[in-house]
Amino acid sequence: MQQILNYINGEFRAPNGGGFLDNYNPATGSVYSQIPDSDASDVEAAVEAAKAAFPSWSALTREERSQHMLNVSKRITERLDELAEAESTDNGKPLWLAKRVDIPRASDNFKFFATAILHDSSELHDTDGKYLNYTLRQPIGVAGCISPWNLPLYLFTWKIAPALASGNTVVAKPSEVTPMTAFLLSQICNEVGFPKGVLNIVHGLGGKVGAAMTEHPDVPIISFTGGTETGKTIARTAAPMFKKLSLELGGKNPNIIFDDCDLDEALKTSLNSSFANQGQICLCGSRIYVQRGIYAEFKTKFVELVKEMKVGNPKLADVKLGAVVSKAHFDKILSYIELAKEEGGTVLCGGKEADTDMSGWFIEPTVIEGLPETCRTNQEEIFGPVVTIQPFDTEEEVLSYANGTKYGLASTIWTSNLTKAHRVAAQLHTGIVWVNCWLVRDLRTPFGGVKQSGVGREGGWEALRFFTEPKNICIPLS
Ligand code: NAD
Repeated sequence: MQQILNYINGEFRAPNGGGFLDNYNPATGSVYSQIPDSDASDVEAAVEAAKAAFPSWSALTREERSQHMLNVSKRITERLDELAEAESTDNGKPLWLAKRVDIPRASDNFKFFATAILHDSSELHDTDGKYLNYTLRQPIGVAGCISPWNLPLYLFTWKIAPALASGNTVVAKPSEVTPMTAFLLSQICNEVGFPKGVLNIVHGLGGKVGAAMTEHPDVPIISFTGGTETGKTIARTAAPMFKKLSLELGGKNPNIIFDDCDLDEALKTSLNSSFANQGQICLCGSRIYVQRGIYAEFKTKFVELVKEMKVGNPKLADVKLGAVVSKAHFDKILSYIELAKEEGGTVLCGGKEADTDMSGWFIEPTVIEGLPETCRTNQEEIFGPVVTIQPFDTEEEVLSYANGTKYGLASTIWTSNLTKAHRVAAQLHTGIVWVNCWLVRDLRTPFGGVKQSGVGREGGWEALRFFTEPKNICIPLS
């Protein structure tokens, strides 16, 4: 059975403790590889390697750093088929999705930040002609990057790339649920001669490896994407150590459909925003609000289309939904469907395990109607192929629904009235608003949420600023 190894100081190493964890293929439900059950001593070795590599990596010219990263980007593209296959097997997502979105984006993340630093600039403040202040942005040191399982290589590289491009060295931990493409990335670094110790990847459990990274005094900056509860734990540890923190957390995103929208477009995209990646994208719209005049028509057509979505073997081209990521997550999603029924919801379609010829964890895309706003199903993140749908009458009413959860990551509006779109978008308490589209991700734009969806922003200059410390230097002009 394949054994994944840690990548520390440019070497592939077994964990110091010698233990390994089982890694499952969600489509078959069986163990297919093993990953290091690393501990604080492995993190210590990775931090030491990253510290030792920092002076030389941060001293490279921008062109040199950029070139190293472009080499990684190119090799990811050359190994696209293999990486997509691995991502699909590890995560359960459709192969076509990994091939079309996840892996190309991982390559793009490296390319985007490798080239962004070639166009970077900083500020200068002239104090009344008497002094000049200029802002020097310097790398911080060893950055800790912790990522989740839903878009494994996509989100892993989304953090690592800006950290490296800004001149930091990195200790990174992928999710223990989907470690494979991070391991393949370490092979790629080795193949292209990426400098040793600059990127170190430690595999294992969050409570051991992630916690050791967060607690480590020589990791002054942490970029985390994952659940809100984990984010709270990390913040509790990091705050008294005054670490710089970026937290990208959960969501319960509203999808608002006004009666003057292009109904066909709204239907088509809502299918995607509800069920892409089995609904396991933090940006998925899990609460659909439809204006009363078109509610019946939208609901009928939407449910018809959902029933046509094929669930099954992620390797087949016509499959729309693959497996959900783990048995624990499968149980959690089904328990939320039961809860929705107890709370008075009517299941319009789906609502149970999907009937496939595979032995893994598949759930039918599910639409639930008739739930009050305040119920747990409408308030808590389910993170699976489950959406609720309900009618509304006025803008004011739907805004109160949309803003009525503890989360504030993303929202979507469907309307042909541009004035209304601007007005509603400005009043939504989310970090991202899509109007008549969904998941358009320009890498230059600020990405992140408000309230319990997180703190800070990733993307573009925001990410490069996060991974650097601004220093003001003041000089008299005479
Ligand atoms: P998770 O919080 O369980 O795990 C995320 C990562 O944190 C994993 O690598 C895990 O091992 C690690 N971790 C766990 N406990 C830790 C600890 N005590 N200290 C340090 N690290 C620890 O999340 P998940 O289940 O992997 O991912 C799903 C969640 O991620 C959902 O809530 C989803 O909304 C969120 N998410 C958010 C975004 C975003 O950009 N806002 C993107 C994707 C996913």
